Amino acid sequence: MSAESLLVRKIDWGTVLDHIPAWRADQVVRLLNLESLKRDADVSVIVLYNVPSRKLGRKDIVKLYHYMVSEEEAKILALVFPQITINYIRDWKVEKHSPGLPTEIVGKIRCPETTCITNVEREPATPRYIVMREHGVIACEYCDTLLEIERIPDFLRE
Ligand SMILES: [Zn+2]
Repeated sequence: MSAESLLVRKIDWGTVLDHIPAWRADQVVRLLNLESLKRDADVSVIVLYNVPSRKLGRKDIVKLYHYMVSEEEAKILALVFPQITINYIRDWKVEKHSPGLPTEIVGKIRCPETTCITNVEREPATPRYIVMREHGVIACEYCDTLLEIERIPDFLRE
């Protein structure tokens, strides 16, 4: 299949993430489980940057062929990118998904406190955060360091 036909092709099953702020799609992909994306030979990821949008002016879109974003991933995406639209495609049909917000985030985000046990070089602990939505922050469960929700994309782990 040519790259062009893949771009416009309808999707039989997978996930379409729409209304991502312009030029932020890479952060969205990083919030997903990249290791499992890479392992699955059947997965294709198409990223559209800076597409005209009536709602946002400009937006990014991420199309994930043959990958269903997990509920945990959907909740984190909804927290970090409040305008994001998550569409699950099953059997060519689109279902809009409205995830709740996460109460806890495990892995994915590094602690801003460099001396935190999650940042030590040997056998670091897996980062865990409590989400304090009403304060607009997440709190490291090990060292209580607070991280503003809008700064999460700057602290994504590779
Ligand atoms: Zn910490």
